[in-house]
Amino acid sequence: MRRLVLASSNPGKLREFRQMLAPLGIEVVPQSELGVPEADEPHSTFVENALAKARHASRHSGLPAFADDSGICVDALDGAPGVQSARYAGEPKSDRRNNERLVSALADKADRRAHYYCVIVLVRRADDPEPLIAEGRWQGEVIESPRGAGGFGYDPHFLLPEVGRTAAELMPDEKNAISHRGRAITRLVEQLRVREYLSA
Ligand code: IMP
Repeated sequence: MRRLVLASSNPGKLREFRQMLAPLGIEVVPQSELGVPEADEPHSTFVENALAKARHASRHSGLPAFADDSGICVDALDGAPGVQSARYAGEPKSDRRNNERLVSALADKADRRAHYYCVIVLVRRADDPEPLIAEGRWQGEVIESPRGAGGFGYDPHFLLPEVGRTAAELMPDEKNAISHRGRAITRLVEQLRVREYLSA
């Protein structure tokens, strides 16, 4: 098994990454297991935050590391909460309060369109001059009443109109196959294969 450090301690993300990378012989180790402290996410773009987190984890662990930065971008809110998704309702991070804030921000809006966005950045070492970058998007709508017990974060309010279910009503494999993170991981894996990245 090849070890890759995940620069996140989000259990929902860890589970999804493990499910998708284990078949490739990649063992995902969360940075918390190696005593790596959480990095700051000071930037206004997802890709800059992901790169900062991946570099930080690689520098502290001495191993190849990857990070994703993701969030939900709502059309009627000019892309908010966006990079602020995890802390939309302030500290400490709370999915419940984030969802309450989102639902109330959209209370008088007819346009409910939103997309999840995910970018993954992988570095072989902290000063890797060729970070591997992969993105994914997932289109849906924000609904007022939560539905479903799966997933995490905004999933109970993220409706897939063509499927008639929320992201929280999908089985884990179903979500992984079509989600922003699933798409980004598929692209990441394609690039890992093409570039034989981890053996370099
Ligand atoms: P990050 O750790 O800065 O990337 O924060 C991502 C935040 O975006 C999470 O804490 C969730 O609030 C939200 N998010 C990202 N991906 C998902 C998902 O697949 N489902 C639900 N919420 C998500």
